[in-house]
Amino acid sequence: MSPTWVTSPNYTEGRGGTPIDRIVIHYIVGRLSAADATFQNPDSGVSAHYGIGEGRVHQYVSVFNTAWHAGDWGFNQRSIGIEHSADQYRAPTWETIMASVDRCTILCRQFGLDPMTAIVPHDSIRATACPGTVDWEDIRDRTAQQV
Ligand SMILES: [Zn+2]
Repeated sequence: MSPTWVTSPNYTEGRGGTPIDRIVIHYIVGRLSAADATFQNPDSGVSAHYGIGEGRVHQYVSVFNTAWHAGDWGFNQRSIGIEHSADQYRAPTWETIMASVDRCTILCRQFGLDPMTAIVPHDSIRATACPGTVDWEDIRDRTAQQV
């Protein structure tokens, strides 16, 4: 599924020379439209590179720029953030998971990443409930079968 641009003002130009070696898995705690609204609001101070849900893939920030998603500056510089439509009571749909696997496969190929080490959940970086109901290990393992 090709991404549709929904440009966010919340990013830093470039990556400070840091190579990309991680893909961080997040959940929106809402639908894709909620991520669109938050990431398009300059006052929110947050963004991600991609959001997936409701049959769509949105791109907010170029992968060559630093999105503000990990809550850790070093990790923001080295990683690509992907948000998934889900909340505490609603896991991502099969369609969302498959679109995420497709996106992770493309990114791992593009940047020469091993999915088994590159794909990580947000809560491995800092204390957070994210990625909640997203089965990030399933995304990782399915990506590893395709790369
Ligand atoms: Zn997160």
